[in-house]
Amino acid sequence: MKKTLCLICLFLLLFTWGCQWLEASLPQNQDENESETEPRDNQTESGELSVHVLDVGQGDSILIALPGNRCMLIDAGNVSNGKDIVSYIASLGYTKIEYLVATHPHADHIGGMQTVVDSFDIGQVYMPRVSTNTQIFENLLLAIKQKGLTITAAGAGVNILEEEGLSLHMVAPKSAKYSSMNNYSAVVYIRYGSKAFLLMGDAETVSEHEMPGDMRADVVKVGHHGSNSASSTEFITRTQASFAVISVGKGNSYDHPAASVIATWQDGGTTVYRTDVNGTVVFTCDGKNLSVKTQK
Ligand SMILES: [Zn+2]
Repeated sequence: MKKTLCLICLFLLLFTWGCQWLEASLPQNQDENESETEPRDNQTESGELSVHVLDVGQGDSILIALPGNRCMLIDAGNVSNGKDIVSYIASLGYTKIEYLVATHPHADHIGGMQTVVDSFDIGQVYMPRVSTNTQIFENLLLAIKQKGLTITAAGAGVNILEEEGLSLHMVAPKSAKYSSMNNYSAVVYIRYGSKAFLLMGDAETVSEHEMPGDMRADVVKVGHHGSNSASSTEFITRTQASFAVISVGKGNSYDHPAASVIATWQDGGTTVYRTDVNGTVVFTCDGKNLSVKTQK
């Protein structure tokens, strides 16, 4: 009991309150000197954004390579995935993760994040205001504390980045309390030029219903590993997605993904990829065109 209380206190202490919350909700000003500096080496082709849905088995980890040599990581799989995720990000030439999002505190999303925090320079950390008493969660909080980082609350309306032609913001969680931990998931919406990506974490139908009416996205990272607790028909229709990708482990004990969920996405005209079949799936976008590459 005492340990749980300590953990909650640590969690609350790491949150940035007041001003930081406000800053996170306002568009970020671009560095005035940015246009005068020499262009840096981009990991993606100049002006491209790519979304890498990593094959981490039964879990989630998504790397977003942003124009201008920046990157964002949403989730870091299980503990056993940490080293491989670090290697993947390093192999793309990154030494810093500008935006790190832990969608919610389940082990299949934050397991490898301690290793990630220990391995890179980290910019802003986003987490929903919900805690758990697992050792994995505690280890992550300690790693964040030891690095001198603070946590910005994830939630609907939080602007992560806003600049010409590119915006990253959150559309969930909207409520303060949910009965399922999955619905606390930070859901990230990325718009780049005329294309949009919606990255659902483990958000289920309760959260889907709370999202704005217009949820159109070219690519959706399907909520909760393709479980039928997410992906309501009504929501799928609203996304009008061309591509859906499910992050899921082969032969997992949850029977994810649900056949009915895959069928509903496909009935809507969406092409479905899944990491247990396709391996890591990479979407590359120049703001107008979108291409998909699968590992398998
Ligand atoms: Zn999960």
